[in-house]
Amino acid sequence: MLDCLVVGAGHCGLLCGNLLDRKELSYLIVDGGENIGDVWRHRPKSLRLFTSRQFCKLAGYSLPGDPEGYATGQEFAEHMANFAAINDLKLQLKTQIVNLTKVGDHFVAKTQTGQAIHAKTVINASGANQVSIVPPFAKNLWSEVQQIRCSDYVDDTAIAPNSNVVVCGDGATGRQIAAELSGKHNVTLACGRVRKLVPNRIGGHDIFWWLHKARVLYASSRSPIARILKRRDPIPVAYANNAALIQQGVDIKPRAVNAELNNILFSDGTVVQADVVIWCIGYKENVSWLRLPGVNSVDDLVAKKGITPEPGFFVVGRKWLSCRASELILGADRDTTRVVNFVQEYLAPAIKVTQEGYQSS
Ligand SMILES: Cc1cc2nc3c(=O)[nH]c(=O)nc-3n(C[C@H](O)[C@H](O)[C@H](O)COP(=O)(O)OP(=O)(O)OC[C@H]3O[C@@H](n4cnc5c(N)ncnc54)[C@H](O)[C@@H]3O)c2cc1C
Repeated sequence: MLDCLVVGAGHCGLLCGNLLDRKELSYLIVDGGENIGDVWRHRPKSLRLFTSRQFCKLAGYSLPGDPEGYATGQEFAEHMANFAAINDLKLQLKTQIVNLTKVGDHFVAKTQTGQAIHAKTVINASGANQVSIVPPFAKNLWSEVQQIRCSDYVDDTAIAPNSNVVVCGDGATGRQIAAELSGKHNVTLACGRVRKLVPNRIGGHDIFWWLHKARVLYASSRSPIARILKRRDPIPVAYANNAALIQQGVDIKPRAVNAELNNILFSDGTVVQADVVIWCIGYKENVSWLRLPGVNSVDDLVAKKGITPEPGFFVVGRKWLSCRASELILGADRDTTRVVNFVQEYLAPAIKVTQEGYQSS
């Protein structure tokens, strides 16, 4: 039986595996993907990370290239794969956990092939961005209207030239896609709640350099600073603000509220005919595989800095797990170190000190 099963080989899962390895705890990292970093490889080709390379270190292992520059998704995926290889992490890919239960005091994880993995503890590193959200009114659209989820958008090769494209959702991804498609297509961007758009660089530095130095990113999730950040929810895409997008020919609309035939209806009563709709209104977590009595909702996962109500079941890589940095690469070392310490403490009565060092029973 494993001391710890890590579900998910994103950067958080890899960091957990590395820390468990150093503590000489037996572990396995499983991931449903074919390759490490597939979530980054499948993001839009034009995507560049919004945090510069200096903030993409994994346990001190630097991402090659200009530290002030911004890596592609592909580059970060390679970085993760290299990190796993040099640390010889114990990994099993193409292994999706479809069912996690507790039997007595240990966990049984069932994979899509029926394999059962037994572990004393589990770290859920499956990420919060698993399923891209599509609003219920999307089903009102004619089947002729091409609908693309942001998680499936790679580039515009599948979109006929001069299409009427409605991008629903004005977060970083929606704004980047709208900017990319403008010029080649008639693009409308539907905006949701007002969010603070900030520049990527200020005074020659990455904005995250300033936020990191000022420790703002590490303020506890219940602190007054955190409350302000949660309310304003700033995103570093000021180069794709409304004025810049309008200049590129993008039509800015308020929230999309309904759909009918091939029309998208907006909250100001206007209507746009669409050939293509790209849904960029966010992601939700898939918790269908969790059959644990202590975990009833996604909120249970982020309640206590990685400790969940289910004893022995821990979480990393969630928004506001401990602070703003928790969902960023630059915050992962801090959170994974804390959570792996929780795992060790949980296992402590079962760990015997031998002459060679710690050894699990
Ligand atoms: C579009 C986008 C751009 C972003 N850009 C940046 C950026 O520039 N800088 C930054 O710091 N942060 C960025 N983030 C945030 C950051 O990437 C995420 O918070 C981060 O990916 C979380 O890492 P993770 O390791 O927790 O999860 P993920 O990277 O999502 O990895 C989770 C892994 O778990 C696997 N998995 C899921 N469920 C199961 C299961 N049941 N069984 C087995 N395996 C499973 C998945 O296959 C996946 O490989 C971005 C996020 C998005 C969505």
